[in-house]
Amino acid sequence: MTIDDPTGTQRRGLLLIHTGAGKGKTTAALGTAMRAAGNGMRVLVLQFLKGSWHYGELDAAERFGGDLVIRQMGRGFVKVGGAETDPEDLRMVQTAWDDAVAAMHSGEWDLLVLDEINYAIGYGMLDPALVAAALEARPPMLHVILTGRNAHALLVELADTVTEMREVKHAYTKGILAQRGIEF
Ligand code: ATP
Ligand code: MG
Repeated sequence: MTIDDPTGTQRRGLLLIHTGAGKGKTTAALGTAMRAAGNGMRVLVLQFLKGSWHYGELDAAERFGGDLVIRQMGRGFVKVGGAETDPEDLRMVQTAWDDAVAAMHSGEWDLLVLDEINYAIGYGMLDPALVAAALEARPPMLHVILTGRNAHALLVELADTVTEMREVKHAYTKGILAQRGIEF
């Protein structure tokens, strides 16, 4: 509590991470996106690597009329690991990252979700030190959520709130395929 912030509720931008092997990382980010949009905030979701599936949230976001925008920046399946990495996938990750940095400094958004960015980092397609430096240099009021398994230690260190989804059970292990409205 300070003289400028008598209620102790001064607004500040948070860095959140949703990681872990359990389901719910992206959908929790989308839930937060909806909460923010409901507060009149403008939300941009950039989805690293995704692009082959048409997720329900893409159409749901359209209904928010520009205050909640989701962009798929990949093409789905990615071959990973050293020489296996397709240069086209690397190029798409680079474009997604360039867009993320531009979005941070555009003043257009209150919340930026970098969905599946942890996978791009984990696959060696994006330098975690570069990401950490850009996040530290972002405008102080901007909220950012990073999602994906195996969040890098540098980013976990930097984050304010980190949630690890733990898998207790997943229908997939019983052979049940992805269900519309739940998985996509
Ligand atoms: P969701 O988008 O449902 O919140 P997520 O973001 O936590 O899932 P990702 O690692 O991004 O999970 O996985 C993408 C897809 O794989 C989603 O369709 C998700 O439902 C599914 N999935 C998530 N966790 C598991 C799991 N433990 N086993 C199998 N499939 C999973
Ligand atoms: Mg996800």
